[in-house]
Amino acid sequence: MRTITVSQLAEILGTSVAAGSGEARVSSGVSTDTRTLPVGSAFFALRGERFDGHRFTDVALNAGATALVVDQWEGEAPENAGVVVVPDTLAALQRLAFWWRSQLDIPVIGITGSNGKTSTKDFAASILSRHFKVSATKGNLNNHIGVPLTVLSTAEDTGAAVWEMGMNHSGEIAPLCEIARPKFGIITNIGTAHIEYLGSREGIAEEKGMLARSLPSDGTLFLPAGCDFYEYFRQRTKAHVIPVGNGRGLIRAENLELGDGSSRFKLVIEGEAPADVLLPVAGRHMVTNALLAAGAAWKVGLSPEEIAAGLSATVLTGGRLRRIEWNGITLFDDTYNANPESMAAALETLADTPVVNGARRIAVLGRMAEQGEHAPAAHRRTGELAARRGITVIAVGDGAEEIAGAAENGRHFRDVESAAGWLSSACHPGDVVLFKGSRSAAIERVMNSAFPRP
Ligand code: ATP
Ligand code: MG
Repeated sequence: MRTITVSQLAEILGTSVAAGSGEARVSSGVSTDTRTLPVGSAFFALRGERFDGHRFTDVALNAGATALVVDQWEGEAPENAGVVVVPDTLAALQRLAFWWRSQLDIPVIGITGSNGKTSTKDFAASILSRHFKVSATKGNLNNHIGVPLTVLSTAEDTGAAVWEMGMNHSGEIAPLCEIARPKFGIITNIGTAHIEYLGSREGIAEEKGMLARSLPSDGTLFLPAGCDFYEYFRQRTKAHVIPVGNGRGLIRAENLELGDGSSRFKLVIEGEAPADVLLPVAGRHMVTNALLAAGAAWKVGLSPEEIAAGLSATVLTGGRLRRIEWNGITLFDDTYNANPESMAAALETLADTPVVNGARRIAVLGRMAEQGEHAPAAHRRTGELAARRGITVIAVGDGAEEIAGAAENGRHFRDVESAAGWLSSACHPGDVVLFKGSRSAAIERVMNSAFPRP
């Protein structure tokens, strides 16, 4: 955000300064967390289930906040800061983000989907940053608080933005699109993540479809050509739709070679000269994510050469199929999260990874959360897929028993220590070991305990 005074902040929020200085300058954007609050920022006191920012207004002032946005104020007027009182501090944060977005005349790429949003965002940001100063979602700041914070962290001289939009419940994507107003949209896929709250894949598609609906008529929507909701989204958008990947796409990967921790392909964009890509991550699904990002970057105006260079230089956010070499054993750290589709994608990636004669492919898997009544079948299918692909399954922790039960020779360990103990003695150089589970399963603990690294 650009520098504004507290009076201007109050005006944007539809009110006036309640106490303190209206002349104080908000020069470092906004913050909702006093532990990371930059000097000269506006502190928004949010109320959550477990926290209440109103308890930290003194801390915020001591840390150098020049504005406090609160829903009540009984304290003394601060000296070098102003206080703005609003009915709802979260709504105020969103309103400020809406205002700031309207000040930015830049191409915005909005990304949603069940899996692959962050990876696709990382690819797109890596490409676009060869040409522009880029505003990209940090970590996973993709919800009703994260999107406004991301928009507000966008500097005035930014040239392009790539913002992730996530949801757990219905009704969450549309307000994010209103704030972010993307011209370019990517829907990575429709799976079953959070199906416990959304009921069905149709329910999930309807929610993600809000991004398609929000795009303007001069915008573009990128969809995987093989997406079974392709027609559904096409009918719900005014934007031009471009199919990506899977043979029929206008943007596709030819001569694809899946390697050990990387993929090589020719990036083909209809009507353009092809360009060679060495994608620094394994997995067919990652190639699709890369192609979706490539399509959006191409529409923003980058050349296939620039796109290929940006893709090849991408550093993905941690816990997404990161390849680690440990004394001759290959580890794939995909521990960030899991649902049935990302489990399947990771197991297929493991199955596609070449191993030397006699070595094994081992998957260390934890439970998948938020599957509701679908949970037992989902876990069973994961175990069955592993068995079909000749993968040895080590299931760990509560809720993962069914994966081991459905896999041939699958084992289940109750706790981290016993699983790690088994792995340390059973794994040999040449073996390839995948680690994956829902965030709450924290399967990285098994990896770090069995294969400690400095
Ligand atoms: P979240 O909803 O938690 O923000 P996300 O959509 O941002 O997730 P990523 O963080 O990119 O997704 O990836 C999450 C997991 O899904 C990783 O394990 C990754 O390997 C896997 N994944 C990424 N892309 C796909 C895809 N297209 N299909 C299936 N799985 C995928
Ligand atoms: Mg994400």
